[in-house]
Amino acid sequence: MSKGWNGRKPAGRIAYVDGRYVPHGNAGVHIEDRGLQLGDAVYEVFGVSGGRLMDEAEHLDRLERSLGEIEIVMPMPRNVLMLVMRELVRRNGVRDGLLYLQISRGVARRDHPIPKVALRPSLILTVRSVPPGEFGKRRQDGVTVITRPDERWGRCDIKTVQLLPNLLAKTAARRAGAYEAWLVDEAGLVTEGSSTNAWIVDGQGNLRTRPLSHDILPGVTRRVILEAAEAGQLPVVEEPFSVAETHSAREAFISSATGVMPVTAIDGWPVGDGKPGPVTRRVQELYGLTSAGRAAKSGT
Ligand code: PLP
Repeated sequence: MSKGWNGRKPAGRIAYVDGRYVPHGNAGVHIEDRGLQLGDAVYEVFGVSGGRLMDEAEHLDRLERSLGEIEIVMPMPRNVLMLVMRELVRRNGVRDGLLYLQISRGVARRDHPIPKVALRPSLILTVRSVPPGEFGKRRQDGVTVITRPDERWGRCDIKTVQLLPNLLAKTAARRAGAYEAWLVDEAGLVTEGSSTNAWIVDGQGNLRTRPLSHDILPGVTRRVILEAAEAGQLPVVEEPFSVAETHSAREAFISSATGVMPVTAIDGWPVGDGKPGPVTRRVQELYGLTSAGRAAKSGT
């Protein structure tokens, strides 16, 4: 096993499941967990940078909102959850990586309605290291995307674990040699990526992304970019854009907890000159500054 970020050998991957730190390979949930059988669960993904959780408060805000929308209660107080997440990062010796959190409604005899008796929600936390090069190269060189019909349900603003349409779209992208799939609604407008928010720099030089609604996930990175763009005086319009408009866009990029990645081609059409553009580079810079500031402020 390779050395951990602090130079010491990690003891092996550790997960946190329902109140216990357990070896990753032995961790499991009950077969009647409603998350497993019915997709009755929500999730979050936190970037880990320098051993700290990025945009921690914003992810927890969205988690509480997702839970509230489907009437699941937090399995533990927010400040305790923060301690557990930080402890898991520490125990795994992760410096740069991703922390995944899933909360399901809990275990009950299989039946559709939300049980009348309050269940104890199940909590799963896993964390893994991501080699710096893995996303770094894509942030540097950019990625390509294809477009696919958006076949998801009507409440994409809730971060549920029901990701089948997303993973089918992502698979289609990978099979086509692209990194991401941009999902397109019935009006021909891009909603978002299968696991990212979608942006262009339009013909007028505005940063453009779809406004928040039930059609897209309110990305934490999207939100931080909007604040950073305002601070950096980049013009932004929160308006949908069509697939046709992506063909005349000056630049394009995607955003998620894995960062801001330039998009160099859409459906095989080069975006601009087919290279990451200056506005995207500025957004990457501003986002980096803002997000690093946030991690420091949260004191993780
Ligand atoms: N849109 C979708 C559908 C996603 O699944 C994600 C992340 O998982 C995002 C957007 C980006 O959100 P965030 O910036 O909070 O990672």
